[in-house]
Amino acid sequence: MMDTSQNKSSIFSKGEKASPDYFTGNAWVNILVPKDETGKYSIGDVSFEPGCRNNWHTHPAGQVLLVTEGLGIYQEKGKTARQLKKGDVVVIPSHTLHWHGATKDSHFTHIAITNITEKGAVDWLNPVTDEEYAASHA
Ligand code: MN
Repeated sequence: MMDTSQNKSSIFSKGEKASPDYFTGNAWVNILVPKDETGKYSIGDVSFEPGCRNNWHTHPAGQVLLVTEGLGIYQEKGKTARQLKKGDVVVIPSHTLHWHGATKDSHFTHIAITNITEKGAVDWLNPVTDEEYAASHA
């Protein structure tokens, strides 16, 4: 069985374990470019173990995902889930309720470019239920 915890082919190192408050399963976040005095965004590398996804959430000024590894899922509330693979780009509009994560059988890594406002960069909501997650694979 492939050792997904090491994720050896990743471009960037795994970084810190993501908060269980906002993720179901194990994920790691490596902040590649923190917001500084010149920036209105941050850039992070996020690695998900198989089955891991983040909570439903919105971004006050949107987000862009660049997929670098594995197989994943992006879903907006009320819409069909989108399967993601290496090379895919997701443009997430402001205030759009969504989640992203790995498929149940694959690790998944994306770079997230997140715009930052005076109201922050993300508003977290409830976890994606097992039923919602299973339905995203249909
Ligand atoms: Mn997002």
